[in-house]
Amino acid sequence: MIRENIELVEKKIEEACKRAGRDCSQVHLIAVSKTKPVEMLEEAYNAGIRDFGENRVQELMEKMPVLPEDIRWHMIGHLQRNKVKYIVGKVWMIHSVDSLELAREISREAVKRQVTVKILLEVNVAEEESKFGVTVKEACGLAEAAAKLPGIQVEGLMTIAPYVEDPEENRIYFKRLKELSVDIYDKNIDNVNMNVLSMGMTGDYSVAVEEGATYVRVGTGIFGERKGMVL
Ligand SMILES: *Cc1c(COP(=O)(O)O)cnc(C)c1O
Repeated sequence: MIRENIELVEKKIEEACKRAGRDCSQVHLIAVSKTKPVEMLEEAYNAGIRDFGENRVQELMEKMPVLPEDIRWHMIGHLQRNKVKYIVGKVWMIHSVDSLELAREISREAVKRQVTVKILLEVNVAEEESKFGVTVKEACGLAEAAAKLPGIQVEGLMTIAPYVEDPEENRIYFKRLKELSVDIYDKNIDNVNMNVLSMGMTGDYSVAVEEGATYVRVGTGIFGERKGMVL
């Protein structure tokens, strides 16, 4: 099941790349494994997945030690400052940096452990009340301020688009995130890359790829529905 799902998602990503005239090697699939048991992650691993996304520190800490070491773990959920110490130096990238205070905490831990942490700035492009992330207007200021902190590498932007029936409704938000990344890139801020655009989930990743996503985060489309309302 999981292997077939992954193959289907990869095929759809490839098709979206073709439609958009993009080189597919720039697009990476993150399997979002939150709430799913380790056995299912192993299945995905055996089908070739090396990037996994989790949204809770506790769950990450439990899964990490029992799964292969070459997995790149992506922290994609809201991160509390007091939990930063558990994941710095362990995860590949933190997608959900939504304040300077959080960036400062990551920097402090990174310096302490003598590592560099790759981060993305989370932008609430659609300005939904229920979602974390800075506004489009605030993003550049956060990039500038975060880039000055030691031990942090700003790699790009992340957004969670609204839940919609028709993925076309989210195209405008993906376009806007891409434009924002180009605007920030054009400012030539020291220590800021805009190589990564993390956008697109099960319902809308094809559209996100057409609009420039470099990471898509797919959970349900690989592992099936989650029980309860766990975003
Ligand atoms: C849960 C989650 C996803 C995956 O959602 P699906 O709709 O199951 O693909 C992607 N990104 C974030 C930040 C999430 O929390």
